[in-house]
Amino acid sequence: MIVAKFGGTSVADAAAIANVVDVIAGKQASGPVVVVVSALGGTTNVLLDLAHKAAGGELLSALQLVEQLRDRHLREVRALLDGSTEAADLALEIGASFEELAHLAEAFRTLGYLTPRSLDTVAALGELLSSQIVAAAFRHRGYPAVWVDARDVMKTNDFFTRAEPDVEAIALASQQLLLPLLQQGKIPVMGGFVGAAPGRVTTTLGRGGSDYSASLIGAAIEATAIEIWTDVDGMLTADPRVIPGARLIERISFDEAAELAAFGAKVLHPATIAPAVQRGIPVFVFNSRKPDGKGTMIAFDAPRLAVRAIAGKRSTTLVKLRSSRMLLAPGFLRRVFEVFETHRTSVDVVTTSEVSVSVTLDDATNLGAILQDLAAFGDVAVERRSGIVAIVGAGIADGSRAIADALIALGPIPVYMASLSATGINFTLVIDDEQVVPAMQRLHAAFFEQAS
Ligand code: ADP
Ligand code: ASP
Ligand code: MG
Repeated sequence: MIVAKFGGTSVADAAAIANVVDVIAGKQASGPVVVVVSALGGTTNVLLDLAHKAAGGELLSALQLVEQLRDRHLREVRALLDGSTEAADLALEIGASFEELAHLAEAFRTLGYLTPRSLDTVAALGELLSSQIVAAAFRHRGYPAVWVDARDVMKTNDFFTRAEPDVEAIALASQQLLLPLLQQGKIPVMGGFVGAAPGRVTTTLGRGGSDYSASLIGAAIEATAIEIWTDVDGMLTADPRVIPGARLIERISFDEAAELAAFGAKVLHPATIAPAVQRGIPVFVFNSRKPDGKGTMIAFDAPRLAVRAIAGKRSTTLVKLRSSRMLLAPGFLRRVFEVFETHRTSVDVVTTSEVSVSVTLDDATNLGAILQDLAAFGDVAVERRSGIVAIVGAGIADGSRAIADALIALGPIPVYMASLSATGINFTLVIDDEQVVPAMQRLHAAFFEQAS
């Protein structure tokens, strides 16, 4: 049994969706498959944008976006299913969904604000529709696909916009819903990203969360592999949008892949690895445009290298707390970190000295409240335009020269914080936001582009 997840570009239009059917058709001989799909590429951004526009009083622009999205979905359905009865049913469903969305937009305009819960209702529409379209495309081509509403399987808590999975409930629902379909030789097709809190209230797992859906389902059905099909050849030595010469990584450890994802490699949602590790299920990353490519295999073991890849993240926030009371005060750090916990904000990089603590935050939504609470401990300074670069490799701390080479490679780029993970596989540097790209170029050149 495998779970195959196709991202937004892999289901962007009728041609891409037809390709998904071909990819899965080629695999079916080797065993049952659950298909997880993202929204048609770019849809989630437009959905969130139109909700914000409506709440901000720009109802007309919001309604125009609703219409554009509806037309796009209808066009792809026509192109995929030309004239079948299923096309007519789906067109009705799509029409009704967008009519409801237009009503929601009007309600947002009247209210003048959005709640995380209403944002999730809007954002989920992309995957709820794309998955129905993909299921219909399979059937139209003669494959026994069945649409599964993700809200019946992906059980979560009600932390809207970044809901956390209820792993036991997901396992139970998967066994009750997905396994019987697989046993009957059917292909379950469901949307990623979307879940439901108790009471079947729609939630989402956070941006990019379809990868996480796939690995949660993979763990729940004890799949033999989780496949992430995307628009690049696999995990590469750096983001190819920043480093066009980045190279394919054929095999990488779970630990290294998790660090890369957490420190900016968007190809995998950061939470994807954990469910796979727990069950020891390998994760593969493939290019849906080159289905015969080697891809990347993520598993427990991989050849040990000093540096496997480089990641970078822009727009992070650096918070520095200075407190003379910290000196010899047991429990001080715990109390500082409780502030971040209270405001549900996770910390990326941490360094401490006897009188100071510095942390970086990815998500600064609750920064105001955090700063207020931290002020009780001492002087707080904030640098909003920070960035991070990380070198990741199981052998960084093996007495190799990797750390020295990284610092030399950065040359004149100022470094504000440096941190080597306890596991020795991640060396992270905090730098200015606008230095992230040049720093990645320098590091990639030093570690991967030297003539050997
Ligand atoms: P999908 O829509 O399929 O989920 P994403 O856009 O979320 O695709 O992720 C794929 C993108 O991740 C690639 O186009 C690439 O620009 C980016 N990326 C960042 N770091 C890496 C990396 N180390 N290896 C591969 N891709 C990366
Ligand atoms: N469609 C969602 C997003 O754009 C989830 C995903 O594609 O993984 O964030
Ligand atoms: Mg993604």
